[in-house]
Amino acid sequence: MILGATGSIGEQALDVASRSADLRITGLAADSDWERLVAQADATGARAVALADETAAAAARASGWDGTVHGGEEGVRELIVSARPEVVLNAIVGSAGLGPTIVTLSEGIELALANKESLVVGGELVTALAEAGDARIVPVDSEHSALHQLIRSEPPGVVDRLVLTASGGPFRGRSELGGVSREQALAHPTWEMGGKITIDSATLMNKGLELIEAHHLFAVPYGRLDVIVHPQSLVHSLITLVDGSMLAHLGHPDMRVPIAYALHGPDRIDLPVEPLDLAAVGALTFEEPDTDAFPCLRLAREAGVAGGTAPCVLNAANEVAVAAFLAGEIPFTGIPEIVDRVLAAVPAPPAAHFADLYERDREAREAAERELRSRAAAGGAR
Ligand code: NDP
Ligand code: MG
Repeated sequence: MILGATGSIGEQALDVASRSADLRITGLAADSDWERLVAQADATGARAVALADETAAAAARASGWDGTVHGGEEGVRELIVSARPEVVLNAIVGSAGLGPTIVTLSEGIELALANKESLVVGGELVTALAEAGDARIVPVDSEHSALHQLIRSEPPGVVDRLVLTASGGPFRGRSELGGVSREQALAHPTWEMGGKITIDSATLMNKGLELIEAHHLFAVPYGRLDVIVHPQSLVHSLITLVDGSMLAHLGHPDMRVPIAYALHGPDRIDLPVEPLDLAAVGALTFEEPDTDAFPCLRLAREAGVAGGTAPCVLNAANEVAVAAFLAGEIPFTGIPEIVDRVLAAVPAPPAAHFADLYERDREAREAAERELRSRAAAGGAR
C-alpha cells in the first residue's frame, strides 16, 4: 500500500513496484488529486483508495469509479485497516503523515517510512509503538537507507559514528540569503523532490529533520551523529567503526534505489540505474555545514538534544514558515527566524500520549501564525 501515491516518492514507488511480479498494490492514498489517484489504481489493479480531502473523495465517488473510495483523515485509517497490507509505504508530506504511521504500527504492519516528519514529531512514542506491535520501521530516506544497509553489515558494538551527507542545497557557499526567490529555492542542484522537502533542503532543515530521524531509527545519541556537506550527492551516508575504518554507500541520486531496498531488502532487484562512472565523476568533495548562514540545522539539533516535544514544535513551526515562504509572505531568512521564535515561545515538555503531540503541534502552529501576523503588521513581506 502506498500513501502519498501521487507525490514524488509515491510515483517512484509505483515505478519500483511495477518492476517486481511479487508485489501487489492493495490500496493507494493521497490528499486531493483524485483523478491521478484513480488512474494509478486502475494501472496497478488496486481496488481501494483514500483521499484525505472529503471534497475530492466525493468527486472520485461521483466519477463512477468502481472501487472503494474512503474519505477524510479517517478514510486513510479505514483503508489501512480494511486492506491490511504486508507493508505500508508512507510518502505523505508533513506531520499529516503521523496519523497513518500510528495506525500502521498499531496494526502490527511493517512501515516503509519516507515521511520523516512523523518520526520527528512522534519520536519515542512512535518507536515504542513499533516495538510493542513487533512492527518494523524500514527507512526510505536515502541517507537512512544507506546507514541501515551499512549498519546491518557489521556486528553489534563496532559502529562508532553515523555521518549523514547533505548536498548543501542551491545556496551552499552563500552567506547573504535575504533576497533569494522562491524559484531559486525550488531549484535543487542534485535531487528532484516535492516542494516542501526542496525548501527544507535549501534551508538545511531537511538535514536537521534527518538527524532527529536517525536518532530515533537507529537509537543513536546525538553526540554520535554528524552531518557533512557533500555537494555531488553521490555518497549517501557513511559510518565510522571502532578500528578507524569508514564505510560509505555510493550511487546516483535516484530514490528508486532506497525505495526498492525498503520493499525488498536485503534482496536487490534490477533497476535501470547505472553504477557510478568514478573516472567521469573524478572528485568527491566534503565540507563543514555553515550553520551561521543555515541556522535551521543548528535549531533542529538543539531541539533534538532538548528532547520532549521540542522536535514537534520545530516541525510545526517549520511547516507553517515554509508554506508562508512559498506563498510569498516571508523571505527565505524568515523561515529560521520563525522557527527560532516559536521554539523559544512554546514550552515543550515530553508527551505521554499521542494526543499531547497533536496539542503541541497545534500550539506551535498558532504561535507561528502569530509570528507571521506580527511580521506583516510590522512592514509587510519583509
Ligand atoms: P510531494 O509533495 O511530492 O507529495 C506529497 C504526497 O502526499 C502527495 O501524494 C499528496 O497528495 C499526499 N498528501 C498530502 N497530505 C496528505 C494527507 N493528509 N493524507 C494523505 N495524503 C496526503 O512530497 P514528496 O514525495 O517529495 O515527499 C513525501 C515525503 O517523503 C516527505 O515527508 C519527504 O520529506 C519525504 N522524502 C522525500 C524525498 C523525495 O525525494 N521526494 C526523499 C526523502 C524523503 P496530493 O497529490 O493529492 O496533494
Ligand atoms: Mg534524505
